[in-house]
Amino acid sequence: MMSGEIWTIGRILKWTEQYFGRKGIESPRLDAEVLLSHVLGKQRIYLYVHFEEPLEKGELAAYKELIQKRVQRIPVAYLVGHREFMGLRFRVSPATLVPRPDTEILVQAALERLKKLTGGTAHLRFADIGTGTGAICLSLLHFLPGTEASAVDISSGAIALAEENAEALGLSGRVAFLEGDLLEPVRGQRFHAILSNPPYIPDGDILRLPPEVKENEPRAALAGGEDGMDFYRRLCEEAPELLEKGGFMAFEVGVHQANPVAEMARKHPLIAGTEILKDLAGIERVVIAWRGGSTE
Ligand code: SAM
Ligand code: GLN
Repeated sequence: MMSGEIWTIGRILKWTEQYFGRKGIESPRLDAEVLLSHVLGKQRIYLYVHFEEPLEKGELAAYKELIQKRVQRIPVAYLVGHREFMGLRFRVSPATLVPRPDTEILVQAALERLKKLTGGTAHLRFADIGTGTGAICLSLLHFLPGTEASAVDISSGAIALAEENAEALGLSGRVAFLEGDLLEPVRGQRFHAILSNPPYIPDGDILRLPPEVKENEPRAALAGGEDGMDFYRRLCEEAPELLEKGGFMAFEVGVHQANPVAEMARKHPLIAGTEILKDLAGIERVVIAWRGGSTE
């Protein structure tokens, strides 16, 4: 970037797009716009109608700093501090995974099924295991008034972040956040649904992930053991007995994991049937397993 020239919004966006492109950033224009609108404290649309507006010195300095961090492959969401999920804003931090659009498939599926359970009349309770930012449980609580949730994570940083998100979304009164190992903190409780997007990347595949993920997101949020299935093995064994009759468990899964996970779930004597749902790219992304009987 040359000094002494006038940097307008339009010009700096073009420059950044090219620079990010040369550095191998996947969505150079979008990232440039999101970072600049963050610095200016404006919506992205503002940039389009103010291409000729020059940046102030302080704005330019702050933007340059973000550009340098972005080329070090720090995810945009960490740089701006938030990410949208199910139309809601979640604070993010390096304590946990940035919520992914794929996970909205799990939330949609749970939303539809929870609404149908008992015709929406009973007081529904669900659990979110490995809650991270709280994306899954908080978006469900938002769209399903009257429900309550317990959410578990092994990371104290993630629990603190999820609590902040609950507060910001006005949902704190309906969710208990618990630090601990998988189902340990909720043992003895009963839920109409148990949901999880656990770590599921096979150990050997971690090195093949993009630098944004493998160098910045916590390994404990990604690594699922040698075959990526460690968490499903435990959940399929332990979760069914915490389900109410007629309830279900629903897990996000990685590529080629849906069938083995569904099979694992069906081995449990309390599980009466399973479903597999695809994401928008046609990849089998969600496994649902139903406990037999009807809800009371
Ligand atoms: N649910 C969030 C989402 O969908 O964006 C985060 C999912 S991230 C893939 C998995 C989460 O599980 C991380 O926040 C990680 O800290 C948590 N985790 C890892 N091992 C765990 C364990 N043994 N017990 C509970 N949570 C665990
Ligand atoms: N979908 C995430 C990724 O591709 C992985 C999330 C997980 O392990 N649950 O990086």
